[in-house]
Amino acid sequence: MKDIILAGISASGKWTQSQRLLEYFWDKMKYFETWWILRALQSNDNAIWNHLRDITANGLLVKDEIVSGLFWVFLETLWDDDIVLADGCMRKIWQSKEIVRLLEQKNRKFVVIELVIPEEEVYTRLSNRITCKTCGANFNTSLHGEVNKCLECWWEVYRRNDDINQNAIKNRIDAYHDNIVPSLEMLDKMWYLVKVDAMLSADEIFQKILEIIEK
Ligand SMILES: [Zn+2]
Repeated sequence: MKDIILAGISASGKWTQSQRLLEYFWDKMKYFETWWILRALQSNDNAIWNHLRDITANGLLVKDEIVSGLFWVFLETLWDDDIVLADGCMRKIWQSKEIVRLLEQKNRKFVVIELVIPEEEVYTRLSNRITCKTCGANFNTSLHGEVNKCLECWWEVYRRNDDINQNAIKNRIDAYHDNIVPSLEMLDKMWYLVKVDAMLSADEIFQKILEIIEK
């Protein structure tokens, strides 16, 4: 079984697939998601918390070195038969190189899976997207109908401002092309990248991911 680094533009279905994988592999799968880890680190008062709070309060991104440092600590905690699921750690070429270097250094077998959807689909899906304020779950009004409460944890849901604003969506698409696409091209040259058509149904995508990591 290979470790998975999941990539894909906003609304490509990464969250749904991550949840399915985590459910399927249960305690064998270890999840590295930058946002969750940073949030957990901010849960009590200490020097790291203060530092991260200052960064996030000013709308800045956490330094690449911090993310790769956290990834290294994360790898140190794994057992041999654990499977890694990583998301949100390929923001720039430099960082992707670091993540690859650390995985190789630990002799992990891994694959980068990109969920691919056309650009117009990003607009359609985001304009139908409802997000949970508490657990971060996403729902699609065209699939789930009107969603008034989170279907996972039953807390409040909202439409993210950057899901409604066309310019904000365009900025996200541009940022993906500027930062993540070059990383993926590099990973493709290293034979680590596999693309999956994310216009398929969630079940079909999930089956394809299983086939890829079992190889
Ligand atoms: Zn929720």
